[in-house]
Amino acid sequence: MAKRDTCVYCGKPIVKRSREHIIQNALGGLYESEDICCDECNNCVISKKIDAPFTKTFNPIISQIENFVKTNNKKSQPTCTGKAIYENKVYDVIIKNGKVVACPEISKKLKCDIAKLKFEILAYDFPIENISFKNGISKIAFNFALEKGIDVSVLRKGVEVQKNGEKVENVLFRFPVIPFVALNPMDEYIELKTNMELYHNLILFSQGNMLWCYVDLFNTFQYYVLLSDEWDTKKSILETYLQLLQKIDRTIPELYIRKPKHILTYAMFFNVEPCMDLHEFRKRVEVAIQKESLKKNMSDVLSAKLGYDYFDIDKIKELKKEDARSYLRNEMGFHLNSLRLYFDEDDKLKDSTFRQVTCIGESNNVVSYPLLIDKFVRDGTIDIRQYTYKKFERINAFLAGIDKIRVEDDN
Ligand SMILES: [Zn+2]
Repeated sequence: MAKRDTCVYCGKPIVKRSREHIIQNALGGLYESEDICCDECNNCVISKKIDAPFTKTFNPIISQIENFVKTNNKKSQPTCTGKAIYENKVYDVIIKNGKVVACPEISKKLKCDIAKLKFEILAYDFPIENISFKNGISKIAFNFALEKGIDVSVLRKGVEVQKNGEKVENVLFRFPVIPFVALNPMDEYIELKTNMELYHNLILFSQGNMLWCYVDLFNTFQYYVLLSDEWDTKKSILETYLQLLQKIDRTIPELYIRKPKHILTYAMFFNVEPCMDLHEFRKRVEVAIQKESLKKNMSDVLSAKLGYDYFDIDKIKELKKEDARSYLRNEMGFHLNSLRLYFDEDDKLKDSTFRQVTCIGESNNVVSYPLLIDKFVRDGTIDIRQYTYKKFERINAFLAGIDKIRVEDDN
């Protein structure tokens, strides 16, 4: 792909190329592009006004992830707010390093050291509704589309660049953002019943005159971003990206390089810029190999999640004859249809449908996923908070090391 010559924000020619992470580096994003904006817009506007307030939201999660991939991760212990139970009552609390350190409501009543009370943490607060959160999610979708060759003019409507004369002062992303909610049994199964794995997942896809990007961070924060509603219906695009967030728990294989030309081969293969210091060069190649090992094929990762427990056979056994019959007719039909929608005969995930469309129970119509969620939210059919709460619960349990949803015995 030809390199972009001008910065997408200020429009000036890119003189000094700046590495911009598609998903913020502070969130462990390893995917970089030098093709999006100039050095000044990146360092003075985007990283300060979009990335910093956005990534701060995730501190409570990041600080708890073992072997987090971001290399310059300082062992900081940020405080955050959340909800916790004490003596059967739910309180607003302040949490630090997985422990409740303050609770204003109890402090008023009791004069004691809050840290000594036995709280059970229910959830962390996430300001999903605020502007910086939406900006951050939208920027990821915008970056991914640009990196995959979408012309900036297609995306222009959703980006407001505020200038003072020539100088860019702020950028606001105005793309509509719709939270993801699992609306079919297959998605419920994948998201809530299979092993929790920490990853970021992006899916860029066109649907009629719409261009969407599905953004999934930490396998928990899941959104659709509508990038354009004037997409050329004759063109179709589908791009996916999936990256694991924990360093793979094994020793990095030693690089045996007998001849200098071998390291050049590796460097070319992994797109590493050569340098004169051979020790430094070798280190760069090793880092590139490590990074590469975290990039996964979305279809492979999700196909591996499909297990025999998808159909709840035990439930059928428990049902009375009549109920079982109607369960088989209605529920199982829905189960089977959503299975067929996503997986082919070899149990391999179909990239072309996953998270783009869903089937509706009785009629078994296949419809646009984001548009159906939007409709259901508008007419009050679903409550988004129920699903997001379940996802929070899962990541909290996973981070606390108590992800016991699946029995370990897998044979
Ligand atoms: Zn610029």
